Amino acid sequence: MSRARPVTVPLSLIRPLVRALRPYVPGEQPGVAGLIKLNTNESPYPPSPKVLAAVRAAVDQRLRLYPNPTAQRLRERLASLHGCTPAHIFVGNGSDECLALAVRAFVEPRRDRRGARTDPRSLVQYFTPSYSLYPVLAATHGAEGNAVPLDRDFGLPDVARLARRGRWRLDAALTLVTTPNAPSGRGYRTSELDVLCRSQRGVTLLDEAYVDFASEHALSLALKHPHVLVARTFSKAYSLCFQRVGYVVGHPQLVAALDTIRESYNVNGLGQVAAAATLGDLSYYRANVRRIIRTRAGLSRDLTRLGFEVLPSQTNFLLVRPPRFPADVWLQRLRDRRILVRWFSSPAVCEYLRLTIGTEADRAKLVRVATHILNDLREI
Ligand code: PMP
Repeated sequence: MSRARPVTVPLSLIRPLVRALRPYVPGEQPGVAGLIKLNTNESPYPPSPKVLAAVRAAVDQRLRLYPNPTAQRLRERLASLHGCTPAHIFVGNGSDECLALAVRAFVEPRRDRRGARTDPRSLVQYFTPSYSLYPVLAATHGAEGNAVPLDRDFGLPDVARLARRGRWRLDAALTLVTTPNAPSGRGYRTSELDVLCRSQRGVTLLDEAYVDFASEHALSLALKHPHVLVARTFSKAYSLCFQRVGYVVGHPQLVAALDTIRESYNVNGLGQVAAAATLGDLSYYRANVRRIIRTRAGLSRDLTRLGFEVLPSQTNFLLVRPPRFPADVWLQRLRDRRILVRWFSSPAVCEYLRLTIGTEADRAKLVRVATHILNDLREI
């Protein structure tokens, strides 16, 4: 049998910008059963029985119909939860979509003028380390990223001082702040975020994906400052990654701008049903959050005792510097023993592992396995 040569397309069919793009690398979703999955900050607890029942009840002949294009009911429920109007709320296909739309709505693609100082209208600004999707969104849009290091302890730097040195831009079209920070887990005070927001002249988006595990949130800033948006997600504290629902709260004119450029039916119908039912059973999720915070404290104590440096966390994960051998070796040794965690190669965090908080049973297994790994090493 003759083997057909693979058909190739001329590279010129694909935009140079896309050809050169380094895509976002999500954490692994292996199809292997029996792994303890502590690599993508999912909740270890299932959605509430009421949410599962609502989704099941919606699986009927209505799957042939388009869903509500603006997630109207969900926006109404979110508005009453947050004390604003549905016009203050945009719902997206995960908060990732909200972030992508913010870049497209508020930032101009760069016009190539070599050597010129970047036009602030083309600037997407963010701290490093923070959510590694931000530079990809900027590059995809043909905008300029401005990555500015956090302080050594992952605290927010004094941006006015950085701005005087030309490092930070108070005029950037869009500033993205992961708060609490990922991957460090560090939380920020609303008062310090307020100072930051007040100094920015462009749109400032506070990405609160992990805020349910923190002691403070900054939603009030989105309702107080017309240029501030807060993004939230149902993925982390609300056990709904699979359904892809996130949202943005902010001034109705910014929200309307996002609405103008979204896909016609950007949020799938079952996702809308699941998210609305989630809001009807918040006490279930608050109990899970309390459990995760308790496990976080316990795991932090356990790992400290084993010689790990554990950073303080206001999220559902811990950033830890493991003892004795490099973090990427720990990654592999944990994987060999069926525990999946996350390691990032970027210089600011390459000595650390990021561990999602699982159940108490996951915590016990992780500690047992880490102890074995350390004992193996001692025997060599
Ligand atoms: N923001 C941050 C900081 C995240 O870590 C994530 C999850 N990777 C998201 C936003 C996106 O979450 P989702 O699209 O599932 O709502």
